[in-house]
Amino acid sequence: MTMTAATTSPLTREFIDADERWSTHNYHPLPVVIAAAEGAWVTDVEGNRYLDFLAGYSALNFGHRHPALVEATTAQLGRVTLTSRAFHHDQFGAFCRELAELTGTEMVLPMNSGAEAVESAIKVARKWAYRVKGVPADAARIVVASSNFHGRTTTIVSFSDDEEARADYGPYTPGFVTVPFGDAEALATAVTDDTAAVLLEPIQGEAGVNVPPSGYFAEVRRICDDRGALFIADEIQSGLARTGKLLALEHEGVRADLTTLGKALGGGILPVSAVVGSHDVLGVLRPGEHGSTFGGNPLACAVGRAVVKLLATGEFQRRSTELGAHLHARLDELVGNGVSEVRGRGLWAGVDIAEGGLTGRQAAQALAANGVLCKETHGSTLRLAPPLVISKDDLDRGIDAVADVVARG
Ligand SMILES: *Cc1c(COP(=O)(O)O)cnc(C)c1O
Repeated sequence: MTMTAATTSPLTREFIDADERWSTHNYHPLPVVIAAAEGAWVTDVEGNRYLDFLAGYSALNFGHRHPALVEATTAQLGRVTLTSRAFHHDQFGAFCRELAELTGTEMVLPMNSGAEAVESAIKVARKWAYRVKGVPADAARIVVASSNFHGRTTTIVSFSDDEEARADYGPYTPGFVTVPFGDAEALATAVTDDTAAVLLEPIQGEAGVNVPPSGYFAEVRRICDDRGALFIADEIQSGLARTGKLLALEHEGVRADLTTLGKALGGGILPVSAVVGSHDVLGVLRPGEHGSTFGGNPLACAVGRAVVKLLATGEFQRRSTELGAHLHARLDELVGNGVSEVRGRGLWAGVDIAEGGLTGRQAAQALAANGVLCKETHGSTLRLAPPLVISKDDLDRGIDAVADVVARG
C-alpha cells in the first residue's frame, strides 16, 4: 500500500490554507487534498493514493466515476441539462417510472439534496394529515427518534438532539415529538390521533451505524397502522444497496408509506433525491403547493436512470451482502483487540474504539497516513462504508489498516 507523509507538505498546505481563508469553517476535514479518483481509490495533489472507506457517506456506493454513470452523464450533457419544471422534458417520466418500479411504489417526487427530500416528506405528511386523516388545523405531530440525523435545514435541526447541529438556530419549528430509537413501547405511547407520521432511519448512520432490535420495525408498522399514521423511512444513507438490500427495511420485511432517497441516487455525480410512495399519500400535492427549480432536471434524471439500471441488476446488493459478511467477520475478530463493539449491516460498519485507545479523529488521521480514508463520528466511533465496487483484496487492505490502528493507543 502507498504510504503517505505524516506531515503536511507545502503543496497540500497551500490548498488547505485557501479553504480556511476563503470558506466558512463548518467542517473539519482530514488534511488530504483530493485531485482525482476512480472506483474505490482517490489520489491527492501529491500523487498519494488512498482507499476510500467512506464513499461520500454512501453517495459513492458505485465508486468514483462508475463508467456507466459517466457515460449517461456525458450523453445527457450533449442534449439538454435544465428546463425547470415549467415544461416537460423527455427524461422525467421515465426516471419516475423506473424508480417507482424499482422501489415497488406508485409515485415519485424528485428533489435534489437529502434534506430537501426529508422536508418534502414532512410537508406531504402534514398535508395528508389535514386533508385525508382529518387532523385539526396546525395540530399535526411527527414522531422522530433520539440520535436522529435527517439533514441540516432549520426545521430538521429543530428535532435533532445533537447540540452541535442545533444550538443557536432557534426559534425551532414545533410539531415534533422525540422517542428513544428502538423502543417500540415508547413509540406506541407517543403516536396519537394527531400524529401525521413517524419518521425514522432504518439504521442510524450519523449516530454511529445504530441497528435497532430486530422486530422493532414490524412494531413501528403495526403502531402506525393502528393509529392511522404514516411511516416515513429515511433511507438516504441506508438505502440503494448499502446494507445488501435495495432498501434496509427489506431486512425487516416491512414497507414504509413514504421513503426518502438521496446520496447514491445521484451516482456520486450530482445531488439527486426523491420521496417515493403511494398515490394515496403523494397524490395530496397539487400544482403550486411544492417545488424546486432543479428538482427532476434532465441531467439529474439521466444520472438517476443510470443508477436505477445498475441497482436493477442486483449486483451491488449481492456485493454488499458478500463483502459485508467478510467485513463483519473480520471486524468482529477485533473486539477485545482495541475495539469494544461493532455494529452494522452489509458493507457498512460502526466500529467503537475501546476506551484508552485513540480518539476517532486520531484513528482517522492514522488511517489516512496508512492510505485509508474514513471518518469518525461521535468521539470514538469509526464509520466504515467502502464503495460497493471495492475488490475483496482492497477491502482486506483497508481492514488490515483498521486492525493496525485500533490496536495502538
Ligand atoms: C445525509 C443524510 C441526509 C441529508 O442529506 P443531504 O444531501 O446532506 O441534505 C438525510 N438523512 C439521512 C439519513 C442522511 O444520512
